[in-house]
Amino acid sequence: AISSTSAVSIKSFMARSTATSSWDKRPTPAAAQKPADLGAAAAGQARPNSRGPGADVLEADLFEAVEAPRRCSVLLPLPLAGAYDYALPEGMEVRRGDLVRAPLGARMLVGVVWGAPHAEPIAPKLAAKLKPLEERIEAPPLSPEVLDFVDWVAAYTTFPPGAVLRMVIRSGRIASAPKPKTGFARAQTPPEDLKMTPARARALEAANGPPRPARDIASEAGVSDAVIRGLADKGALTAVELPADAPFPPPDPGRAGAALSADQEAAAKEMRAAVAKAGYAALLLDGVTGSGKTEAYFEAVAAALAADETAQVLVMLPEIALTMDFMRRVEARFGAAPALWHSDVGDRARGRVWRETAKGRARLIAGARSALFLPYQNLRLIIVDEEHDAAYKQEDGVIYQARDMAVARAARGGFPIVLASATPSLESYANARSGRYAHIRLTSRFGPARMPETRAIDMRKDGPAAGEWLAPRFVAALAETLAAGRQSMVFLNRRGYAPLTICRRCGHRMTAPDSDTWLVEHRFENRLVCHHTGYSIPKPKLCPSCGAENTLAPCGPGVERIAEELRVRFPEARLAVFSSDTVASPAEAQGLLRSMTRGEIDILVGTQVVAKGHNFPNLTFVGVADADLGLQGGDLRAAERTFQLLSQVAGRAGRASEPGRALLQTYQPEHPVMRALLAGDRDAFLDQEAASRRAARFPPFGRLAAVILSGPDEEAVRAAAGALARTAPRGDGADIWGPAPAPIARLRGRYRMRFLVRCDRGVPLQTLLRDWLAAAPSSSAVRRVVDVDPYSFL
Ligand code: ADP
Repeated sequence: AISSTSAVSIKSFMARSTATSSWDKRPTPAAAQKPADLGAAAAGQARPNSRGPGADVLEADLFEAVEAPRRCSVLLPLPLAGAYDYALPEGMEVRRGDLVRAPLGARMLVGVVWGAPHAEPIAPKLAAKLKPLEERIEAPPLSPEVLDFVDWVAAYTTFPPGAVLRMVIRSGRIASAPKPKTGFARAQTPPEDLKMTPARARALEAANGPPRPARDIASEAGVSDAVIRGLADKGALTAVELPADAPFPPPDPGRAGAALSADQEAAAKEMRAAVAKAGYAALLLDGVTGSGKTEAYFEAVAAALAADETAQVLVMLPEIALTMDFMRRVEARFGAAPALWHSDVGDRARGRVWRETAKGRARLIAGARSALFLPYQNLRLIIVDEEHDAAYKQEDGVIYQARDMAVARAARGGFPIVLASATPSLESYANARSGRYAHIRLTSRFGPARMPETRAIDMRKDGPAAGEWLAPRFVAALAETLAAGRQSMVFLNRRGYAPLTICRRCGHRMTAPDSDTWLVEHRFENRLVCHHTGYSIPKPKLCPSCGAENTLAPCGPGVERIAEELRVRFPEARLAVFSSDTVASPAEAQGLLRSMTRGEIDILVGTQVVAKGHNFPNLTFVGVADADLGLQGGDLRAAERTFQLLSQVAGRAGRASEPGRALLQTYQPEHPVMRALLAGDRDAFLDQEAASRRAARFPPFGRLAAVILSGPDEEAVRAAAGALARTAPRGDGADIWGPAPAPIARLRGRYRMRFLVRCDRGVPLQTLLRDWLAAAPSSSAVRRVVDVDPYSFL
């Protein structure tokens, strides 16, 4: 993670940099004491900043008017506090948003022109320090909306704008297209004197059709590259420059979509109207699993694409595993696949998406949360599918909630956003209830499909025999489903074989050496793994504490252990395990999902990766091995998340004509979450949940932020936490709790302490955080990370 306020690292950047920083030159009391330097500005002569952030170099009107150099401020993709000023070399023209190469110390970096060029008077001393820009990069400038969004996200998350810019331009290399390749095609008028050989004949045959690289033609014809070059020299093949990036085929919004049900049509009509009005609007598309939300929001996409031929539309998906099915559906609807953006897309393909988006030519983009930071020219609609999904929260680097940032992007860009879910987040639900978001409901499944029947198994009365994990009724339901030739899904949101390994002799618990976390047994690989850091060791024969042999025993089940029990009970069933450990690549995941869709798997055992959005028509039974799992721990959203997860899992059952059912193994069937699931009464649950959060003034009725301190030296972390505690602002609608050791008090060898800040909605949380942290001394030994709207409390 990037420290938001590590003054030390910023200072060391400053020291290395010879470029002058506009940030460094803001009027401060210190500057006021150095009139020779910037005193004039500090004395109140600074002009209001009218050129955007970073442009407020203090113009020294009191200095003798010298010929001032033309210059502009440039934001670099680094965690610096603001933009730096650079001189514009003679003849170089730049605009705000242009990508440029700029020196920083000994390095040459790609940054973005943040303030319009100007030549206002400047102290000669400062002018002399200005470094010139190296060059302007041949690429479309970032749009004003993208620049504005970077500033806004930085202000909201309290991360430096350069760190946010980094999410847009990365290192900047992505902006430059790879060198265009040369393609060859058969010449219109072949030379008459060409000496024919069998190789040449084959090559000419292969060169029919559109121009292709020499390598492709040569390999098809089974000849060497030299044959192609020879033919080109003789004029039998013509060379053409191939575009570096193949354009994405345009989606056709005019194609007919699916015939919508009456409910879907009403929903589509409301979304189309929002697109037609063309201002900001947020719409919650709240439809039960299988109600056909996708087909409905496709109508909004079509309307946006049709309304403006330069419009771009972004559809955000939480899971890479969902993208294949989504691509197919987009292709069926619009005749062309969307441009796809997520971490598993290769560098070259990603570069193409970035550049085509920057040029405004990629019109329909589908991607993970980071797709929000692509360089759109004219973004006119965002759809956030499965908007409740916790995967939208980014926890590394700049910490942000992509769904919330997407709403802000739409509000600032003046266009509609659709949030789609069967189990909306409490945040979105409350906004819909209060009328801030339009609330569009789809209350029944599409076609003949019905909602599954959900029942509980009370583990206190009807639980499994000792040493087993699945209750008799659970097993019976599986057997019935198998006998009927249908598919089952068994869900347990816990990876590996057993969450804890304990020595039966001395009670030693196997933990990671550098973290306060249990090691999880993975029997398949015979290793013990830390799920937080990935640290792993082969499972030892001897207890590392007492040295006893073969006394290390697994405690509790993970998916692998459930699968083991199922294999014993149903040896003839075709069984597959799906968790992030058992599936090595997205391609493998796609293969598994395809097999499931085709009915080649009888029982799919999985973690939350199976819960999301999939459509398995022959799946009629869903069993949840431990429905109580998510309710443990002090997480603010534990109940909400458990409800969402379990209704999503249950919602996989009975998505076609055959009715589905779900069984939940639970020790607390009277818990509000279980009661709501059994009664199918989501709204009552959310209303009750909302009431308790309102009473505690927790989100969305109050605001939260976490401050996490960490470092290799426990004492230093404690001291830093103590210093912050002494200066913590109290009162005025804000509470600061802590410091407390984080639930995972040691991770990767770093000690961790947390503060939690809660304030009322009207309190300017970011200002409070910034002032508080800026006032306390910080040290290089202790990293401080701010998490506004935290989702993880570990
Ligand atoms: P949701 O996203 O609400 O869970 P989907 O959009 O995935 O639901 O739709 C559920 C199933 O119903 C899918 O197989 C989809 O292809 C089908 N479906 C939905 N609407 C229509 C329609 N209007 N015509 C034909 N099939 C539809």
